[in-house]
Amino acid sequence: MDIEFYMQRALALARKAFEMGEVPVGAVIVRRNTGEIVGEGYNRRETAKHALAHAELMAIDEACRKLGGWRLPDCAMFVTLEPCPMCSGAIIQARIDELYFGASDPKSGAVCSVQQMFELPYNYHPIVKKDILKDECSQILSDFFRELRLKKLELYRKSREQHKLQKQKKLLTDEFECFSEKYRFADDDEITKIQQFTSQLKFSFPAHIDLTEYPLESHDKMYLCFLCGSEELLKLYVFGSYADFMSDLENWQYFSPYLLLIDADFSRYIYINDDGEQKESKIC
Ligand SMILES: [Zn+2]
Repeated sequence: MDIEFYMQRALALARKAFEMGEVPVGAVIVRRNTGEIVGEGYNRRETAKHALAHAELMAIDEACRKLGGWRLPDCAMFVTLEPCPMCSGAIIQARIDELYFGASDPKSGAVCSVQQMFELPYNYHPIVKKDILKDECSQILSDFFRELRLKKLELYRKSREQHKLQKQKKLLTDEFECFSEKYRFADDDEITKIQQFTSQLKFSFPAHIDLTEYPLESHDKMYLCFLCGSEELLKLYVFGSYADFMSDLENWQYFSPYLLLIDADFSRYIYINDDGEQKESKIC
């Protein structure tokens, strides 16, 4: 019997589990006299939402159906990870002759790690061989858990960002209270107009424009829009005077690096990028 060949097949099944986001464990059951694979399985605990959906049990289930009985005589099991107590018990129940496994499982392995179930005085004792393609079998597991850690880290980072954004939004609302003499929020009609206006604009950052070319007094009342940030921040439009916006520029930039100021009559706009640089354009 080509032990490595069958363990490679178990590894291929483990990869299938990996691709589904399952802890990658694969198992095959082989009839020793013919070399025929009679059962295959891979871990699908998450997908099946079932505690029994271990690779070994899936393989035993298939083999029993195929061979037409609960006993699996003259059969060998190849599994990439040391079986847990449940699967070791099932191996005894199915009377599997030989067990070959790859990586040991120090946390829940019931063959040689946490306990040695097959050495206990049960009525059946399969032959066990461990460390078959051990490196490959361990590697696929460490790859999986590394990816899982990275995914968790990414989720954590996103939730932190979300939290920061909410905090900023609250700060903005609080600060707006102090500014309410100078500014007001745009009303619904104005928001519709602003959105129609901004939908026609094409921005390219960064822009390099000397503000001195554009005399302040040429601007009066303007809308301030946040060009990026969360969906919620995008909905925020503030109305006030150009001079006031400029004097509070640092505050506004704290909430969004890209700000857009639109003349109250929608005749021109200025946008300010994250370097505080400004660009003005006229609408023809
Ligand atoms: Zn198991």
